Amino acid sequence: MRLGKYSIGVGDRFAHQGEAQLRAIMKANQTGLDISPVWNKSNREHIYVHTHPADVRKEADAAVAALGFTGKYFVDADHINLTTVAPFVETADFFTLDVASFIGKPSASADVKAFVESCSKYKGEFTLPGINTPFHITNALLEEIASKFLAATQQASEIYQFLKTSKGEGNFVTEVSMDEVETPQTPLELLFILKMLANKSVPVQTIAPKFTGRFNKGVDYRGDINQFAKEFEEDVLVLDFAVKEFGLPTEIKLSVHSGSDKFSIYPIMADVIKKYDKGLHLKTAGTTWLEEVIGLAVAGGEGLDLAKKIYANSYNRKDELCAPYADVIDIDVLQLPSVEEVNNWSSQKYADTLRHIQGNKDYNSNFRQLIHVAYKVAAEMGDTYTGLLEKYADVVGSCVEENIYERHLKRLFNL
Ligand SMILES: [Zn+2]
Repeated sequence: MRLGKYSIGVGDRFAHQGEAQLRAIMKANQTGLDISPVWNKSNREHIYVHTHPADVRKEADAAVAALGFTGKYFVDADHINLTTVAPFVETADFFTLDVASFIGKPSASADVKAFVESCSKYKGEFTLPGINTPFHITNALLEEIASKFLAATQQASEIYQFLKTSKGEGNFVTEVSMDEVETPQTPLELLFILKMLANKSVPVQTIAPKFTGRFNKGVDYRGDINQFAKEFEEDVLVLDFAVKEFGLPTEIKLSVHSGSDKFSIYPIMADVIKKYDKGLHLKTAGTTWLEEVIGLAVAGGEGLDLAKKIYANSYNRKDELCAPYADVIDIDVLQLPSVEEVNNWSSQKYADTLRHIQGNKDYNSNFRQLIHVAYKVAAEMGDTYTGLLEKYADVVGSCVEENIYERHLKRLFNL
């Protein structure tokens, strides 16, 4: 099973926006592109929202049928591991093997030795096609890389073997993710991670490294844009080399777990994939949940009241809600409006504060990050929340569609 060249992960926490998301992708595809939608949802999201992996399959199939979409589409068991994968086996056809927690775990010295030996031809001055500065590869460096990543790739191999047995070889897309860590992986590390995966016969089709910089939830990239550009380009070259050299699947591509809305790096990624004629998988998730809240605010009436209630609960429970996401948010509490203030806001004021348009004077990235991590609050509201999503489906859906098309796909594909 092969993913198309371009694919976008559209998470949808409450499973009501499948059609709106697909409309945005189909609109982009009308320009001649062939972007595959991938509905991704992690185990954590399922637990918070009380959904089951089968719900995502249902949503995806229903959206595709309703809109008559004829392209490829996928359902991604996002960030699974050996203990959480089982419930996803039946209905997912894309698996993100999250092995980040195994980085740095020890491996048997014989395994390390075997890996180092398998890399002997790269020792000394090693030039990777397209990268001007040669790398100096020593035994010590290879051992260091093995001590960081060999156990993680072994884990990827074990999850892959489990899936191969339970789903059958070739019946699913394999992604390996190492993005949920503090320290970025360098392009050279990525090269040897791919070598390890190839040695272990894991046919990785997308790989999600941790890139340099901060990928805070729902807001723009923070970090050194030039460093990101250099690293991203080198990673693309590394993948190209790995296909030819290690025999990995020819369609392999980078998967950028964006945490949504990394608009300032979209043009960089667009340029690089165009320059080398490469594919890309971009994951978003929470951006759609935020558009639901925006849509409710825009709808006014009960919708606006509920959006205000969501903020009040988020504000009052911010410590609890932020704790699991501490590494991927930067909220300046002093910049958060008070609950009383927000309760007096108009639809427009609320939407402008939350919607990710950086030039808007009311846009507040602190407000946005807080709501981003507060979907649990809406989940607790149960039918009250989803009932209003249904009541105001037109307004909410148009916000979701506009966001994916205007702010994401247009920037990513130069539309
Ligand atoms: Zn991720």
